[in-house]
Amino acid sequence: MSTTLLSGGVVISATGRRAADVLIDGESIAAILAPGQAASLGVVPDTTIDATDKYVVPGGVDVHTHMSLPTSGTESSDTFETGTIAAAWGGVTTIVDFATQTAGLSVHDGLAEWHEKAAGNCAIDYGFHQVIGGVDEESLKAMTYLVDNEGITSFKLFMAYPGVLYSDDGQILRAMQNASESGALIMMHAENGIAIDVLVQQAIARGDTDPRFHSTTRPVELEAEATHRAIQLAKVAGNVPLYIVHMSASEALAEVAAAQNAGLNVFAETCPQYLYLSLEDHLAQPGFDGAKFVCSTPLRTKHEHHQNDLWKGLRMNQLAVVSTDHCPFCFKDQKELGVGDFSKIPNGIGGVEHRMELIYQGVVAGELSLERWVETCSTTPARLFGLEKKGVLEPGADADVLIWDPNGTTTIGVNDKHHMNMDYSAYEGFVVDGKVDTVLSRGTVIVENDSFVGRVGHGKYIKRSLSNYLR
Ligand SMILES: [Zn+2]
Repeated sequence: MSTTLLSGGVVISATGRRAADVLIDGESIAAILAPGQAASLGVVPDTTIDATDKYVVPGGVDVHTHMSLPTSGTESSDTFETGTIAAAWGGVTTIVDFATQTAGLSVHDGLAEWHEKAAGNCAIDYGFHQVIGGVDEESLKAMTYLVDNEGITSFKLFMAYPGVLYSDDGQILRAMQNASESGALIMMHAENGIAIDVLVQQAIARGDTDPRFHSTTRPVELEAEATHRAIQLAKVAGNVPLYIVHMSASEALAEVAAAQNAGLNVFAETCPQYLYLSLEDHLAQPGFDGAKFVCSTPLRTKHEHHQNDLWKGLRMNQLAVVSTDHCPFCFKDQKELGVGDFSKIPNGIGGVEHRMELIYQGVVAGELSLERWVETCSTTPARLFGLEKKGVLEPGADADVLIWDPNGTTTIGVNDKHHMNMDYSAYEGFVVDGKVDTVLSRGTVIVENDSFVGRVGHGKYIKRSLSNYLR
């Protein structure tokens, strides 16, 4: 096996930073060494990568992506191939995507379908959560089987999308009880979909069909209410670990903070779109352009303090993780399905490539420390979702590494840095400090010198263990 030395950089972990060299043996980290120590130990690496003046951090872990997801009469535009290559360009070395079961269909068939989409097509490692879109005897049995045999230890339920993926409170409770027994974690899309559907129908009937009404028909109260209800159900189900996905609103965050203060196993994530984009500046653009920013939960008004509160929540660990909810659609022919009716616009924003860049900008802006950047984007998502060998640089861990140049800059946009399979960027024209320099996946360089040099098929399926936080 060949050895690689990443020399001269500053290694950032969730707990601190120090000048250190990283010795890689084959696919794993062999040692973290004092600068220059390799030579004094007589180690002669096969390859040396100069990381002078750069940060050396664990590769990004994005635990919320949707590649090739059939929805709204179309399919999200990144395949596992294009999406994982874009992720690599952004310093991400592991994704966890959502295998999906819908009501009446078999969970096992849903999972098999996702394996088929991904196998042999990924440039980086990947795992799956399982969406349970129809809670019944069969799917409950399958949940236990997946935990015991398939390395799937988290299940996503929906309080939104009645008639599509929605579960009622009784179904949610049953699935939570099942997870509580097996040790699994429940992820929740927390929006009151029954009430939202009423507001949507009323808006369309009034002729309020522009993209901005996507946000006003999904008010913060209905995110906060569903978050509260999910927390209570999780408590009743034996304090099963609960993870609220794509949190967008101060009111919902307050529910999470209250639950955490009460000692419940409640976690939450937010996404770059909620930290940077708003109803006024993006979704409410004149004409149909706002469709580019239709996602659920929706972008919120900047006149309240959602973005400030979300950054604060990240600092205080009320929000444990930043993911992207990467669910890209092209504007042409895909977002355009909703011209004249915002409720028909496919829900989703592509962002898998830009999370490390955008959250690093939070470091530059003084919102987060470098350590917290690493923790929320890499270490905690790996620990929380049982990715044993990911998210840290320490002996025995997979050699998934991002070498980050803090002196570089990155311009995001379709004619600049943009490798996702979309005809627009939600972050068009954003200029961020810092730059992805080199990316390694299990010891293999996959991005260097502004080129993708990895290989489709290199990425492996990772069986996940139970959440490291709670067992
Ligand atoms: Zn999602």
